[in-house]
Amino acid sequence: MAIAPIEIALKLDNDDDIVKPKPSQIGPILLALALGLTGALLNSYPIELAYNIFLVLGNLTFIIAAAYLRPALTLLCALICVAPLLIIWGHPFGFLTFGCEALFVSYLRSRGWYLPTADFLYWLVIGMPLTALLIEFTTTNAPEYLIFALFKQSINGIFYTALAVILIFVLGDKLNGWIKSQQPPLVKNLKQYLQYILWVMSAFFVVGVCLFLSRSLTNIQDQQFQDKLDISSQYVGRIIEDYVDEHKKAIAQVADTLSVIDPTNYDDALTKVHKIYPGFLTMLIANQDGNLATSSPRALMENLPKSGFSVVDRSYFSQAFFQQSLYVSSVFLGRGFGADPIIAISAPIYANDNANKNNKPVGIVEGSLNLNLFEQVNRYAANDREIDLVLTDENDNVIYADADLALARLSKFNFSLDQANTKHQLLTIDTYGANKQRYLHRQSVLNNGWKIFVLIEHRQILALVEQQYLTIFISLFFVFILVIALANQFARTLSRPLAFALKELAQGGGKSGYKTMPYVAPTDFLILYEELQQSKERLLKQQFILEDKVETRTQALNEANRALKKLVNKDSLTGLYNRRYLNNKFSELQAILARNNATMLLAMLDLDHFKKLNDEYGHLMGDRCLKYVAEVMSNKFPRRSDIVARFGGEEFIIVAQHDEQGIMLDKLEELRQEIAQHQFEHDTGELISVTISIGVVTINATYSEKITDWITLADEQLYQAKDNGRNQLSINQLAHIIDKSVSS
Ligand code: GH3
Ligand code: MG
Ligand code: MG
Repeated sequence: MAIAPIEIALKLDNDDDIVKPKPSQIGPILLALALGLTGALLNSYPIELAYNIFLVLGNLTFIIAAAYLRPALTLLCALICVAPLLIIWGHPFGFLTFGCEALFVSYLRSRGWYLPTADFLYWLVIGMPLTALLIEFTTTNAPEYLIFALFKQSINGIFYTALAVILIFVLGDKLNGWIKSQQPPLVKNLKQYLQYILWVMSAFFVVGVCLFLSRSLTNIQDQQFQDKLDISSQYVGRIIEDYVDEHKKAIAQVADTLSVIDPTNYDDALTKVHKIYPGFLTMLIANQDGNLATSSPRALMENLPKSGFSVVDRSYFSQAFFQQSLYVSSVFLGRGFGADPIIAISAPIYANDNANKNNKPVGIVEGSLNLNLFEQVNRYAANDREIDLVLTDENDNVIYADADLALARLSKFNFSLDQANTKHQLLTIDTYGANKQRYLHRQSVLNNGWKIFVLIEHRQILALVEQQYLTIFISLFFVFILVIALANQFARTLSRPLAFALKELAQGGGKSGYKTMPYVAPTDFLILYEELQQSKERLLKQQFILEDKVETRTQALNEANRALKKLVNKDSLTGLYNRRYLNNKFSELQAILARNNATMLLAMLDLDHFKKLNDEYGHLMGDRCLKYVAEVMSNKFPRRSDIVARFGGEEFIIVAQHDEQGIMLDKLEELRQEIAQHQFEHDTGELISVTISIGVVTINATYSEKITDWITLADEQLYQAKDNGRNQLSINQLAHIIDKSVSS
């Protein structure tokens, strides 16, 4: 619990660090802005693949940003980059999908992922579901668009990511010179690297070539559709005009015929004509009063009231009768004969006598032309499932429409045109939500003011593009598998010789004996292998020389060490053992002798009047004397068990086992005599001699372990010898001393 405040404090410290704008942040911010603006420029000119389907390439800039910048700045870049799509697409969803893409890719890149893998994962896990949701909730014709949009978006994503990675790959060295990356370096093993680069290359080329082909294909299809629309609208227009014209002519002709025959034959004549022109739903003849004279079919008359039926109020009567001209009504729905849209065509009939000829008509003939018959006439459109037709009259009311358009007869044909793209304006029929398809369209106006709309569902074009995209997706999948296998093989081919060379070099003992490369390997590898062999040989040689040197040096060092050890134990002037050695050796000898209950002898030797000698003849002379005395002592006591040491100054000590016969004492006496007899020749030619006094003590070795006790006793004797006139031995032979204090 007590740690918490510290942790909080630390956290606050860290937060402070992040919030503070560091000077080094300016470079990355500028980079994000520059990339964002470049992307925005590219995105302002999207490449149209098919009607209203665009490839946005500008997004590649925020993928490049993700390679160098942390998520926040990559997002900034993406938002700038996507801005133009707000206008082009008319909705802000690009900010969401591409913003998330930028964040996701940059974050995974900072965790050591490759960009294409990260982007592919994004579209699979987030991008596609997110797009699906957005389309589902915002577009009315979602199912039509959904799959297509998902394919399109992710293929687009893969394409611009591949392009971005290729750009980084090609310009990498230059970019790295300019840009200080915020992202960690990305180094993986050979296999992964090859897989990555091969996948990017192939994805780019597969998608690129597919999109290029698809675009040319779409252009051809586009032309085909446009041609079809043009031809259809002209063709159908002609058919309809001909249909109406033909029946107009028929009415004119029948009026002429009726004008020359007797009214009693009207009935037969009408029936005959009706047979020839089944397009007329009904035909009738009315007299000058507007009363129905006859009709075809006859049944029409039977259903009428007996009192008669007047059409005097109908425009087809009045127009034909009073204006005396061929009359074509506007479209109306037939009454009593089904709800088919019809037009009435009428013409005046004249009497077959000369008196009336130039005066008033005697009646009219009328045919109600069934416009529904277009369905049969319009075989062209009926057989072509891609095409839908709408025929409207001069008031834009629907005369005829393909059944699947679900348009009510004679209702107003309302439609709106897509304003986004003027090149390929798409038409949407406004039928209060029933049909929200979008159509490519052609509109042509007939002579009589009617209009024909030839429509091709946008969905059909989408289906074609969708198929192409599916092909791209499947190709990509196979390419992916192939690339992985190829990269594995490729990596093996490259890494096998490398591994072999490494193993050989690690084992090979040098000089010769390296195996030759058993694999087909690039020459660079073989050269490297050879050079490594040579350099290893050189190294080994160098090592041998070094080992030799070390050996000789070690020997010299050991010798020096041994010499040093000797020096440590010996006195440099006389070559005798020094006091340190004396102390050690004394303990050893005393212990052995004590164990054997033997007697030990310690003699202390001192040069007489040595100060005077030094003073008179100089120190060098004194040293010569000391060396000489030492030499004589060593010669006299050569046994390894005897200790002959310089105690200090002109004093020496000899420790040895004492024998019953007193041989050691004799030797000491001989020593004294030999020294006293010797004469040194001084530089001046003067002969000099030196004497020594010796104090000796012999006691059972058990007397004391301490050399000082022994020296004290010997020193007493030495003092005695000096006192007695020097150049003599003074011996204290103590047989058994238990109490040290008694002897002293
Ligand atoms: P005594 O007969 O009473 O021993 O008289 P002494 O002069 O020998 O005794 P003293 O202790 O007064 O003098 C010892 C002298 O030995 C003093 C010093 O100059 C000399 N001496 C000690 N060590 C060395 C040495 O290594 N070389 C030389 N040349 N002289 C030394
Ligand atoms: Mg002395
Ligand atoms: Mg002396």
